[in-house]
Amino acid sequence: MKIVLLGECMVELFQLVENVYHQNFAGDVYNTAVYLKRAAPNLDVQFFSAVGTDLVSDQLVAAVDAEKIGTSLLLRSKTARPGLYMINTDCFGERSFVYWRDSSAAKQVMQLFAAQQKQAELLTSQWFYFSGISLAILSAADREQLFVLLAKLKAAGIKLIFDPNYRPALWQNNGNDIAQCREAFIKAYQLADIALPGLDDHKVLFEANHAEDVLAQLKTLGVPEILVKNGKEGVLLYADGQSQAISAVQVKKVVDTTAAGDSFNGGYLAARLQGANAVKSAEYAAALAGFVVQHTGAIVSRDNFAVFSQDHPLDFAGATL
Ligand code: ADP
Repeated sequence: MKIVLLGECMVELFQLVENVYHQNFAGDVYNTAVYLKRAAPNLDVQFFSAVGTDLVSDQLVAAVDAEKIGTSLLLRSKTARPGLYMINTDCFGERSFVYWRDSSAAKQVMQLFAAQQKQAELLTSQWFYFSGISLAILSAADREQLFVLLAKLKAAGIKLIFDPNYRPALWQNNGNDIAQCREAFIKAYQLADIALPGLDDHKVLFEANHAEDVLAQLKTLGVPEILVKNGKEGVLLYADGQSQAISAVQVKKVVDTTAAGDSFNGGYLAARLQGANAVKSAEYAAALAGFVVQHTGAIVSRDNFAVFSQDHPLDFAGATL
């Protein structure tokens, strides 16, 4: 079983103490790919993006490879480098993010994809995952090309998975207004087989007040499987024509909620793509996201992940599924 995930991976600089930073690689779709592959090592997980030809790009590709995620769709641009962001923490423990991604290589992914004729590699996949950030970083013309590609994939029987992950600044910086964003998200939902929206995304964009409002809108758009994420309130799941609330796990101390939604998505797909039902998959995802929020940074260390896996085996021979 193969899944391709389209997105941007950036250099992350995380402030340890004043003027000292820890360097990592992260980005919403990449985080999901990492958790998905760690939780389901038997899946063929491919990351679809673009980087440069510089040293940091080589290190990024090596980091993806070290996670056993396929890199053959990690295209190389001769004119751009990966984006970068810094996480600073003030004296009250409040984190703030500063981004340098306006000219990142990932923005060229559709042009490089067309030039390098990689379509055949996508067509051997069964699943294709993309987010609102994958859409936001593209020019309007490239986004149209992506929608053409998505329609082709769908016509070829490939299932599409979409998380809107709304980032207002990203849409505005790229010269788009909120109406263009809404239009893109609606198109994405109309194509999606699984949607993983956050209630917060829909509060701003579609004036939703409750998870039920999001569910009603997405059902109207024809999405057959929907998970509305709402932080510690848990998830409202809709699958096989039924809706059900899935609680978040009780966490003693929330350390850092970065990548809660990304890890939830990775956990859900790890179970679901291997045959678990939607409820079991959502429960597994909630356990994984609950673990991630108790650790610093988007991606927990492999050692920490091993601790989680020991306590929560995705056991295909027996009980967990
Ligand atoms: P996003 O990061 O996309 O905003 P959410 O904040 O809705 O996503 O979180 C996604 C999932 O992570 C939730 O459905 C829940 O399972 C888990 N989660 C988030 N915050 C907490 C928390 N404080 N305690 C326990 N689980 C949490």
